[in-house]
Amino acid sequence: MVVQTERDDATWYECENCGLLFDEQSDASEHERHCDDTDPSYIQ
Ligand SMILES: [Zn+2]
Repeated sequence: MVVQTERDDATWYECENCGLLFDEQSDASEHERHCDDTDPSYIQ
């Protein structure tokens, strides 16, 4: 799940699975779709 968070006067979108931060909600959502399982091999 993507969580909206305020940091340094900016809005970020955090992947709840791994804690990665994105400045675009669409980027966070795209990432999160691949982050459901803990296998990072999709990065290839
Ligand atoms: Zn993630």
